[in-house]
Amino acid sequence: MESEASWKFIADSNVGRLARWLRLLGYDTSFSKDLDDDGILRVALAEGRLVLTRDTHFLRRHLTTSGHVKVLLLRDDRVREQLRQAVQELGLDWRSGRFSRCLECNQPLEERDKEEVRSLVPPYVYKTQKEFARCPDCRRIYWQGTHWQRMQRELEALEMGEG
Ligand SMILES: [Zn+2]
Repeated sequence: MESEASWKFIADSNVGRLARWLRLLGYDTSFSKDLDDDGILRVALAEGRLVLTRDTHFLRRHLTTSGHVKVLLLRDDRVREQLRQAVQELGLDWRSGRFSRCLECNQPLEERDKEEVRSLVPPYVYKTQKEFARCPDCRRIYWQGTHWQRMQRELEALEMGEG
């Protein structure tokens, strides 16, 4: 059995929002609207990724039935329920890796000194935040602002089992 932290994912186009949440938790989650089912299975096999999908037909594909590719079939259309299911069934660690990965391009974030981002973030953010990180790919700057706090609250609600 692989350790929990070693999970890597590829999200089907019908669960794209879940991909962002898994990236938020620090999980390497690839997602592209341009891949068809064969493309998804190819990447999953080559990179050892578990397929996340709402489509049952993935379960009938040879690569899946033979055990070469693992699939998690999400039961619910709501992203929060999907995240809850993934956390429970795969035993995901949703505490340790938060905001270590770009939500847009899945790259690990690099920590940045406050001074380095001074000209890149709004003055209020510069004044009130201490820690910053940057995506080496899209160069987006991340900090623990209101968006982060909202997602944080969602995760806490998830932990307490609120619907
Ligand atoms: Zn990025």
